[in-house]
Amino acid sequence: MITRDEAKLLRLKLERLSQNLWWAWHPEVIQVFRQLDPDLWRRCDHNPVAMLRSMSDALIIERSHDLELNARIEGAYRSLETYLTDTRTWAIAHAGALLARPVAYFSAEFGLHESLPLYSGGLGVLAGDHIKSASDLGLPLVGVSLLYREGYFRQWIDRSGYQRETYANFDSAVQPVREAIGKDGRKVTIEVPVGSNGSVIRARVWRVDVGRASLVLLDPHVPENDERDRAVGTRLYGGDRETRIRQEILLGVGGVIALKALGIVPGVVHLNEGHSAFAVLELARQRMHEDGMSFADAMREVRQKVVFTTHTPVEAGHDRFEPDQVEAHLVGLRESLGLSREGFMSLGRVNPQDAGEPFCMTVLALKCATKSNGVSALHGRVTRRMWHSLWPHHGEQEVPIGHVTNGVHVPTWLAPEMRVLYDRHLRANWPVHLAHPETWMGIDEVPDIELWGTLQILKSKLVRFVRRRLVQQGEHADGLDPDVATMVADAFDPNVLTIGFARRFAQYKRATLILRDRERLKRILTNSSRPVQIIFAGKAHPHDEIGKGLIREIRHAMSDPAFQGRLAFIDDFDINVARHLVQGVDVWLNTPTRPLEASGTSGQKVLLNGGRNFSILDGWFPEGYDGQNGFAIGSGEVHVSSQVQEERDAADLMRVLEEEIVPLFYERDSWGLPVRWLARVKRAVRTLGWRFNTDRMVMDYVTHCYLPAAGAWSCEVDPH
Ligand SMILES: *Cc1c(COP(=O)(O)O)cnc(C)c1O
Repeated sequence: MITRDEAKLLRLKLERLSQNLWWAWHPEVIQVFRQLDPDLWRRCDHNPVAMLRSMSDALIIERSHDLELNARIEGAYRSLETYLTDTRTWAIAHAGALLARPVAYFSAEFGLHESLPLYSGGLGVLAGDHIKSASDLGLPLVGVSLLYREGYFRQWIDRSGYQRETYANFDSAVQPVREAIGKDGRKVTIEVPVGSNGSVIRARVWRVDVGRASLVLLDPHVPENDERDRAVGTRLYGGDRETRIRQEILLGVGGVIALKALGIVPGVVHLNEGHSAFAVLELARQRMHEDGMSFADAMREVRQKVVFTTHTPVEAGHDRFEPDQVEAHLVGLRESLGLSREGFMSLGRVNPQDAGEPFCMTVLALKCATKSNGVSALHGRVTRRMWHSLWPHHGEQEVPIGHVTNGVHVPTWLAPEMRVLYDRHLRANWPVHLAHPETWMGIDEVPDIELWGTLQILKSKLVRFVRRRLVQQGEHADGLDPDVATMVADAFDPNVLTIGFARRFAQYKRATLILRDRERLKRILTNSSRPVQIIFAGKAHPHDEIGKGLIREIRHAMSDPAFQGRLAFIDDFDINVARHLVQGVDVWLNTPTRPLEASGTSGQKVLLNGGRNFSILDGWFPEGYDGQNGFAIGSGEVHVSSQVQEERDAADLMRVLEEEIVPLFYERDSWGLPVRWLARVKRAVRTLGWRFNTDRMVMDYVTHCYLPAAGAWSCEVDPH
């Protein structure tokens, strides 16, 4: 029997575990939560705070007794405590100059876990992975973002194949958020000036613990705000231009005000994408106000500690606002900075003399950052070309924009089954040496049979997941036709070569490229001795009719009996769906129009889990591809006609699939093992694992951007 005091303690420990998102990258803790009540876990969208809320003490005790979970809960709790107090971190050894004052990392979205829906896609997941690696490395970092009451959106596809959106409601009572406490010991509400005559947007400030790091969220859903101001914190990337500029003011200006109210003095300010660039102006305003500096002096000082990362070579991906709109919203700030209207506007213009040029957030950030970077080597080059006109006296090569290639947070994306395999064969303590090439060498020692067995288990889990989701989709009154759901669920088979494609359905990602030659695709998928199955998932932005059209095309193909159920679209793409897919597929398809995929990260998640990349030479891929550690589509050349380019890419895709991928996958030795395939899997892990993870990425930011920005040393921008 357990005493009442012990019971209370057990609950307290579970609650403490649930309140720090550290659990989200520790599968052994997730397993404890799941086992407490698997059904409830699923119904609560994998949210332990919500789950514990609806479990009585008596039930928790009974369940933990039955399952002998007590020791595991105790173990998890101790691991968390050890983690939080560890003094042997990478940052203590290598980034001492950054320990005194944190990096403030501004991002419009953070993808930390499916239960905290404050992200839409890769940008948010990257920010989430960045903060987790900063925590693992012991780098003091505080994220800054907005709390969106309705998040992005939940997707379902109606019977006709059209995307529909629904919006959840954020309930802070069942989220790992707490109201932030200011220097004065009281809850913080900030006031962010917008427009003229003293009007403000108010925001409550929440905090989220992410391991050793934390995230500050601004929430304008307070009674003192009118409806228009509350709408600023309703939907991520929702609303009109007016909402958008107010969101960016709240994020940038409000974020700086909030940090100050919390007594946080950042040593470095990192703008993840241009959305938050107004932060720089508020920092300058504060310096002018505090020390009576001129705008020019304040900017010189502020600029020294600002780091900017740009993420897109797609023109529409750069926020631009009309001059009148900027003036209407920022006149107060402009006047505090002592700037004329045109002087202020010129901060966001490539050509300051052009009164018609809109105000571009990327331009503002590029002008006000000491270090700017793209997110892959190729994207760095493209970005230097794109913004060359800002530095007309430099050659293109000398444009001061470098690159730090994106990565993924290994503990978040690695399947527990793969972790066991790595534990057995990689060097001791491998998770704290992710960025060392030697760490990954041990993969070559893994017996083929063990690797293949693990991959088969992962694929079986994926197939079960796909079947379950198809059944659910078929149960929806206006969802997938139940006959189609059954046909596809029955056809899905863990022995079949499985290709995955899942990401935002932006046009440039060309989700339907593989469907261009349908007859050929049908032959490949339905080949009786060497069949192939494909799983798609992804959301189109609610205003993106082209993206929605692509989804519809895939849904129609899915219902086409000629494909014999070998093609599935899983709706409501999120981190959970992404995790199942990247951990279970054999091949990950990536078909962007080069060079529009700045980096891409989903393929990096796949390679960690023994899947093979099958990709256009775009984003991170050309940096890692060596001819054998993945499959390339095309040669990296770009035709002037996008039509011709698309035809070429589609043809090459089919050729590689038919002539290289399928034969290699189905080539088996006398034990039934695809020996040559597995050798390539190992090669990908060995040659790519150490580079394309966020520990390496954050270390690069520290060395090339954060340390110089913190004044630890100054070095020339290294574009390569
Ligand atoms: C990793 C990830 C992405 C990024 O996918 P790309 O292929 O890099 O665009 C998008 N969405 C989710 C949910 C992810 O986990």
